[in-house]
Amino acid sequence: MYLGAHLSSAGGFEKMGKTALKIGANTFQCFVRNPRGARAKATDPADLERLRQLMAENAFGPIVAHAPYIMNPCSRDDGIRRLAERMMGEDLALLEYLPGNYYNFHPGSHVGQGLEEGCRLIAGMLNWVIRPEQQTIVLLETMAGKGSEIGGRFEELRMILDQVVCPEKVGVCMDTCHMSDGGYDVIGDWDGVLTEFDRVVGLHRLHAIHINDSLNPPGSRKDRHARIGEGTLGTETILRVITHPALRQLPFLLETPTDDAGHGEEIALLRALAAQRRD
Ligand code: FE
Ligand code: FE
Ligand code: ZN
Repeated sequence: MYLGAHLSSAGGFEKMGKTALKIGANTFQCFVRNPRGARAKATDPADLERLRQLMAENAFGPIVAHAPYIMNPCSRDDGIRRLAERMMGEDLALLEYLPGNYYNFHPGSHVGQGLEEGCRLIAGMLNWVIRPEQQTIVLLETMAGKGSEIGGRFEELRMILDQVVCPEKVGVCMDTCHMSDGGYDVIGDWDGVLTEFDRVVGLHRLHAIHINDSLNPPGSRKDRHARIGEGTLGTETILRVITHPALRQLPFLLETPTDDAGHGEEIALLRALAAQRRD
């Protein structure tokens, strides 16, 4: 099982690999630039190569790079849309040093332009930025659907995917907190949620899952993460997600509000409970 957490990229890429090992993870998520700023750090190919080797030697699953939060490819503002294109283009160029991994982004908020125009703009950015020969699959994250946020319904992701020129380079990353907050019955009927996703989007397009508990009840459209077992989803719900037979090869990533040591505890707990379930 590939289990990991969102790590700070402050010390570079190899450092994150070492931190992952220290907390019992065999995958991780990170920002590849300042999450709230537009500026990219200088690329250090030697550091990226050391991480690639560490991952190979330790049988890591694929990792997920997360786009900065300020990215909004369906903004009303042309400058903000072009910034999104530039940031994603730079990030994908960097990820070519780590072939075979994922780049996840929040589809964005259409800010009153309407769902259809929003999806058209998002697909337009993907078609501009994605190269058919690239080694990274770009993932749309399922969102809680607050405000004019796109991605709260599977149909919205489908609307984007239908307009993408390189469909094999684009997939989906689920987020358990967002989906429950968005009104999907993650707690009561995970099988039903997956069936619905398969019908609307296709399970073959699901490549990663953010495993977060939620501070708010289902359908609240809030998006406030909680630690595993400290929210409305509960440990049993998360366990059902990570042990589901259809999801066996996916990386599961914690974005819970705690530090590396706290994530290490959550990983140890989930591994122990998942092992019990298999016996
Ligand atoms: Fe996210
Ligand atoms: Fe997430
Ligand atoms: Zn969230």
